[in-house]
Amino acid sequence: MDNSKINKIIMENPIVEMDGDEMTRVLWQVIKDELIYPFVELNTEYYDLGLPHRDETDDQVTIDAAHAIKRLRVGVKCATITPNAQRVEEYKLKKMWKSPNGTIRSILDGAVFRAPILTSRISPVVRTWKKPITIARHAYGDVYGGVEHRVTGPGRAELHLSCENGEEIRKTIFDFEGPGVLQCQHNTDKSISSFARSCFEYAISTKQDMWFSTKDTISKQYDQTFKLLFQEIFDREYKLKFDELGINYFYTLIDDAAARVIRSEGGFLWACKNYDGDVMSDLLSAAFGSLAMMTSVLVSPDGDFEYEAAHGTITRHYYRYLKGEKTSSNPVATIFAWSGALRKRGEFDGNKALMAFADRLDFACLKTLDDGIMTGDLAPLCSGGGGGGGSSGGGGDIQTVDYIRFIEAIRDRI
Ligand code: NAP
Ligand code: MG
Repeated sequence: MDNSKINKIIMENPIVEMDGDEMTRVLWQVIKDELIYPFVELNTEYYDLGLPHRDETDDQVTIDAAHAIKRLRVGVKCATITPNAQRVEEYKLKKMWKSPNGTIRSILDGAVFRAPILTSRISPVVRTWKKPITIARHAYGDVYGGVEHRVTGPGRAELHLSCENGEEIRKTIFDFEGPGVLQCQHNTDKSISSFARSCFEYAISTKQDMWFSTKDTISKQYDQTFKLLFQEIFDREYKLKFDELGINYFYTLIDDAAARVIRSEGGFLWACKNYDGDVMSDLLSAAFGSLAMMTSVLVSPDGDFEYEAAHGTITRHYYRYLKGEKTSSNPVATIFAWSGALRKRGEFDGNKALMAFADRLDFACLKTLDDGIMTGDLAPLCSGGGGGGGSSGGGGDIQTVDYIRFIEAIRDRI
């Protein structure tokens, strides 16, 4: 293709670009070269979050990138390695650096939203689902910040709070007559309120109904506080905007929500407490098809957006790539992270051409899949498709290709 013939789209303001590790770092470059540079005069503030550079900068680069997102309001991130003992050895690291996603999340004080990318070729396990279900998980407190104790014999367990004003509060939890277990959880109004605002912002941004669920009938203080804070914030700050957009906020019990989700046709945001979100997000991603087709967006309570794929750096493919193999790694979620960030930049700047390009890019990906061209992870999920070079069945002819041919096929369709 002769690029000089195309008038490239101009971006007045940059987005924050965070490069990453392993196979996704390889995909990152190919996506930019083939799908973005030919069409957009790409304007980014680049941060290399690849593990070697995080190590060189004592992880300062991650902190700088997070602050850049607060300033520029939109970021796109490649998957990154969260170091463990084995990675410290492999990369000869100075330290076992923290998870970049955790660092960015704590600086932005945001919540994570995961949504599946649907294609006509792959039917969700649940027949009634026609539209994606986005799940929001509160990423603070509850059982993840809990204190536990293994009770070995008889004794009284008490809840004891020493207030700053001198008040002492004691409640009996249980009189143990023998061994048992004990757990204490906490959360803060500040964190719950931030989570609520991030969710309402995201619902508005994506023009979707929002559901929130807890077990407030049983947990009359703890879960009830979540329910009340969400309702107060909604009524005070968001109800008008929701009414204008014709979208709804709806609270129900977690068990009722689980049942309704299965019978729904999708197309809404489901806000969950920490544990519920942990379990339900894995359940939804499996039921919609594949982790490689899940996008993830971090939204701060101020309405800053960071886009990425939900999957990791696909290490196993990377080692094969290093041996010279062309792997069949699926770039779709990473491409959708790019289109999400470009579209959001376009929205903020009133740049219609950029928004239209983002839509085209998504459409070209979906069209490629519709045409039966896909990476190896998806072929076995297609109804009637068996993968291999052009096997035909109920799913039509499916051509399994490596990531380079797949990205070229997308480029041909932009
Ligand atoms: P992973 O990278 O998500 O990959 C796990 C397996 O899932 C792969 O081996 C592959 O299966 C399949 N898979 C995932 N994404 C795929 C794609 N786009 N295309 C095709 N297949 C895909 O998880 P992991 O192996 O547990 O973690 C690897 C590294 O990623 C770790 O260092 C971890 O710290 C990091 N990680 C980062 C993030 C993030 O930055 N957001 C999230 C999770 C993990 P097959 O091998 O069977 O083909
Ligand atoms: Mg989980």
